[in-house]
Amino acid sequence: MKTFNYHSTNDVKEATKLASSNSAFLAGGMTTIPSMKLGLASYKDIIDIKRIKKLSGIKVSGKSVIIGATTKHVEVANSKEIKKAIPSLAALAEGIGDPQVRNRGTIGGSIANNDPAADYPSACIALNATIHTSSRKITADKFFAGMFETALKKGELIQSVEFQVPEKSCYQKYPNPASRYAIVGVYVAKHKNGVNVGVTGAKSCVYNEKNIASALSKSFSSSAIDNVKIPSSGMNSDIHASAEYRANMVKIFAKKAVDAC
Ligand SMILES: Cc1cc2nc3c(=O)[nH]c(=O)nc-3n(C[C@H](O)[C@H](O)[C@H](O)COP(=O)(O)OP(=O)(O)OC[C@H]3O[C@@H](n4cnc5c(N)ncnc54)[C@H](O)[C@@H]3O)c2cc1C
Repeated sequence: MKTFNYHSTNDVKEATKLASSNSAFLAGGMTTIPSMKLGLASYKDIIDIKRIKKLSGIKVSGKSVIIGATTKHVEVANSKEIKKAIPSLAALAEGIGDPQVRNRGTIGGSIANNDPAADYPSACIALNATIHTSSRKITADKFFAGMFETALKKGELIQSVEFQVPEKSCYQKYPNPASRYAIVGVYVAKHKNGVNVGVTGAKSCVYNEKNIASALSKSFSSSAIDNVKIPSSGMNSDIHASAEYRANMVKIFAKKAVDAC
């Protein structure tokens, strides 16, 4: 590992001021530390944000669930309020990685990293999330910009993620047996004004599967998806699954999610 400056702060403004074109925020460190150790990334400044109290915690109201950026996966998985308001979100967090990862990894780190196979981005899309940052609010459909890319500007800090409470929802994933990242993960959420289907693992970036969403908005039943065609073009293809397999899994897992709602 190369040398770097380590900063720790308890203030959002200071954290953003310390940021530069060659810095990273340190939340759970579950991506940043291994990437540095393996020589895949190097930074001049590491800005530890774990001491910033206002970035952590869970607030639930009738309409929304707000999760602070440094809230760990285990806290979301165990939250009684989230289990009551959006049980599928707590279940998603419970299915991330392993106990070590869930005890360190954070929701802000997960969505800032935007791994194409990460779980939380699909929840953000399905649950009409708003990402509150140090300078603005970004809706999920504008936040996830591409593989490991987001709308965040350099030094912009995620403060919290606000999810809309749906009428019904369910997340189903086919996990990689080693890492538990999604080979394909489908998050179906039925809202008063329509359905969203957040898909992760299948393409280079999370997306809303509009054809399935539109069929489910007309009739919320798994048979409504039967005639929807999911093209394999643009799907990931690797040693774990071909593009055609992933395209088929999107449909299968959407049906599973609807049946389990
Ligand atoms: C073995 C293993 C298995 C895993 N399995 C899964 C899985 O099954 N599903 C899944 O979804 N994920 C999985 N992960 C990812 C993990 O859950 C973490 O969410 C992820 O690694 C990043 O979160 P972190 O808090 O550790 O972020 P860090 O590593 O601390 O930071 C990652 C990046 O996010 C930026 N960042 C962090 N916090 C903020 C913030 N508040 N605002 C702006 N930028 C920020 C940092 O600058 C950095 O670029 C796995 C990771 C490992 C190591």
